[in-house]
Amino acid sequence: AKNQGKNRYCFFDATIKMLVTQRMKMERDLRDAVDNHQLYLVYQPLVNLDSRKIEGFEALVRWHHPVNGLVSPVEFIPVAEETGLIVEIGEAVVEMACQMLSRFKQAPLLADLYINVNVSSVQVLARTLDSVIRKNLQRYLVDPEKLNIEITESILIEDYKAALNFVRELKAMNIKVYLDDFGTGYSSLSYLHKFPFDAIKLDRSFIQVINDSRQNEAIVESIGLLASNLNIHIVAEGIETREQLIKVQHMHYHVAQGFYFAKPLAEHKVEVFVKSFDYDAGE
Ligand code: C2E
Ligand code: CA
Ligand code: CA
Ligand code: CA
Repeated sequence: AKNQGKNRYCFFDATIKMLVTQRMKMERDLRDAVDNHQLYLVYQPLVNLDSRKIEGFEALVRWHHPVNGLVSPVEFIPVAEETGLIVEIGEAVVEMACQMLSRFKQAPLLADLYINVNVSSVQVLARTLDSVIRKNLQRYLVDPEKLNIEITESILIEDYKAALNFVRELKAMNIKVYLDDFGTGYSSLSYLHKFPFDAIKLDRSFIQVINDSRQNEAIVESIGLLASNLNIHIVAEGIETREQLIKVQHMHYHVAQGFYFAKPLAEHKVEVFVKSFDYDAGE
C-alpha cells in the first residue's frame, strides 16, 4: 500500500511537470505567434431580424500554430490573459479589424457594415487600449461608428471605475459598447442602467435551452422585454436552429448570430457571403 501511494505521488508529480512544461511551451509559442503574425481574424455575421440582412460581423481571433495547426481562442486567450500577452494580441486584433473596415469602405456591399471586437478585462486594466483604438481609427481612416467593442461583466466586477472610464472614453469617440455573454455573471441587471451600454448579447447558453421548457422561453422573452424597455439593443447569440430563430424573432430581439446563419468566415469569404445571403424565417 505504501508503495502504491508513492507511485501515485510520482504519477501526479509527472503529470504536473508535463502540464507545466506544456504551459510554458504555449507561452513561448504564443509570444512567437504575436511576433510572426500567426494570429488572424475570422468574421461571424450579425443578422438584423427586421431587414433580414447582415448588418455587421463579430471578429474572432484564430491562431495558426506552425506545428499544431489551428488553436482555439478558448485555449490560448486564458494563457494570453495570465501572461499579459493579451495586451499585444488585443492591439493586433484592433489593427486587423481596422484594416478590414478600411477594405469594407472599398466594397459597396460592405461599406455600411460594422465590426465588433472582443476585449477582455486584462486589456481594459492595462489602460492603453483607448489610445490604440484612436490611433488605428486615424491610421486606417475608419469611421468610429463602424467599430464596436464587446466587454463582459467580469471587468465591471474586477475594477468598476476602470471599466466606467474605459466605456466613457469609447463613447466619447463615438464607439458603441456591447455587454457580451449577458446573464452568465453576477447581478447583471444592476449594471444595465449604470453603464451606458448600446447593446447586450444574451449568452448562447440561454438560447441552447430555449426549447426545453416554457420557463426557459420566458427568461429569454423577459430579457428581451427588459432591453426593449431600457432602449438597449439586444442580440441573441448562438442561434443554431430555425426554431430558436423564430422564437427570438417574436421576442423583441433585434439581431441574431449563430451557426444557423454562418460559422465565422475567413476574410476572403466575407464579401461573397454577404452578396448571396438570404434566409427564410418562414414563421
Ligand atoms: P465570445 O465572444 O462569446 O464569442 C462567441 C463564440 O461562440 C465564438 O467562439 C463563436 O465561434 C461561437 N459561436 C457562435 N455562434 C455559435 C453557435 O451557434 N453555436 C456554438 N456552439 N458556438 C457559436 P470562438 O471563436 O471559439 O471564441 C471563443 C471566445 O474566445 C469568445 O467568446 C471570446 O471570449 C474569446 N475571443 C475570441 N476572439 C477574441 C479576441 O479577439 N479578443 C479577446 N479578448 N477574446 C476573444
Ligand atoms: Ca463576443
Ligand atoms: Ca458571447
Ligand atoms: Ca466570452
